[in-house]
Amino acid sequence: MIIIIVLLSKERAVVMEIKSKKSKQRDALLAALRDTNCHPTALWLYDKLRIQFPQISLATVYRNLNLLHQTGEIIKIDIGDGTEHYDGAINPHCHFVCDECRSIIDVPSVPMQNIDQNVAKMLSADIRGHSLVFYGKCKSCRE
Ligand SMILES: [Zn+2]
Ligand SMILES: [Zn+2]
Repeated sequence: MIIIIVLLSKERAVVMEIKSKKSKQRDALLAALRDTNCHPTALWLYDKLRIQFPQISLATVYRNLNLLHQTGEIIKIDIGDGTEHYDGAINPHCHFVCDECRSIIDVPSVPMQNIDQNVAKMLSADIRGHSLVFYGKCKSCRE
């Protein structure tokens, strides 16, 4: 009897360890994203997290990014370079992408009167939101 109890609690301890390790990695991922405004890719985040979690895999990073995206804690950005970029800033804002250095710069939300409602009317659709990307040459590339 005693042996069974010991085994059970050992198993539970292992499960708890796995659980906390998982949420620790997710927390670190979110912290890394909130800590930068470079709108990184999954690969960039993977390189960053590997310092703290040498065993972490790229698949785990992707899984956690999708989870954080589903819960609305992060934003995915598509700038047309074939790679998904991630943003820890979830306040409404737009992005500017530099044609030369490919940096992604935050633009405070541009006032556009009722754009969602206007498009909703135009298409007779339900609009969840919109994404607006500006393209050009950034300040430092212009200099
Ligand atoms: Zn630039
Ligand atoms: Zn942003």
